[in-house]
Amino acid sequence: MINLPFLVAERLRYDAANGTVLLQDVSFSVEEGSILAIAGPNGAGKTTLLRLLSASETPSSGNVLIGGRNLKQFSASERARAVALVSQQELPDRRLSLRDYVALGQIPIHADQSRQAHAEEVERILCLTGLIDLAEKRMTMLSGGEQQRAHIARALAQNPSLLFLDEPTNHLDPDAKGRVLSLVTELGITVVMIVHDLVMIPEFASHVALIDATQLVGFGPVNQVLTPDRVWEIFGVTYLHFAHKGRLIPALDIRKNQKLFEGNNK
Ligand code: ADP
Repeated sequence: MINLPFLVAERLRYDAANGTVLLQDVSFSVEEGSILAIAGPNGAGKTTLLRLLSASETPSSGNVLIGGRNLKQFSASERARAVALVSQQELPDRRLSLRDYVALGQIPIHADQSRQAHAEEVERILCLTGLIDLAEKRMTMLSGGEQQRAHIARALAQNPSLLFLDEPTNHLDPDAKGRVLSLVTELGITVVMIVHDLVMIPEFASHVALIDATQLVGFGPVNQVLTPDRVWEIFGVTYLHFAHKGRLIPALDIRKNQKLFEGNNK
């Protein structure tokens, strides 16, 4: 069976209004159902890439193809059915119940189904995201992890084939982080997410795109790209694997962080 590329970036470049190049020459493709982690140092261009891929921003040059079609040719409603983005600045109305908040995600696709079918779909998504028992609670009453799953649920209500997440586990406790990432892997749709915790990437992603100083410096299956040499080169930390109960556990050894040490002694 030949797996066709589903999401394709073709020589993407983005120049800010002041002329600064924020991203350049980024090309890659992933198959449907992939979970792509975008990683890189602060200011490297990860958010810019996510915004271009999710059509929140138009590239200065280059193209994004989804299912073989150029994103520039999608109408607004086609785009809403294709891509959904959960950014770090989701600010739901404090008075909304969780169920109503999730239902808001259906606005761009409200003409697709009957009201009854949409309501059933919201129930399905609330079950899938483990939020059904909280459906009547106001958004402000939810914990950080529950709120993040609510944002993902609202994005899923758009019924997208591609979900984009900007640091979905930021500021969450370990248990909530695990629940969010398990949910992401169980969705069965293509997911692209910015991830800061390098050690989580092998557990939850199939592919990784490494961005450094506006460029793509590594792309491919996680075990081929996230190697100790590359991690050292880009992040200046020692990346290890150790065996535990028949599994390889990734780890970062900051004691051997020569780059930080050298930096502190300048
Ligand atoms: P990352 O997500 O990897 O931290 P970003 O994509 O947010 O990086 O930004 C890359 C760089 O571009 C950062 O240094 C950021 O401050 C800068 N930047 C972001 N947006 C703009 C803009 N509109 N104009 C000028 N510089 C910007």
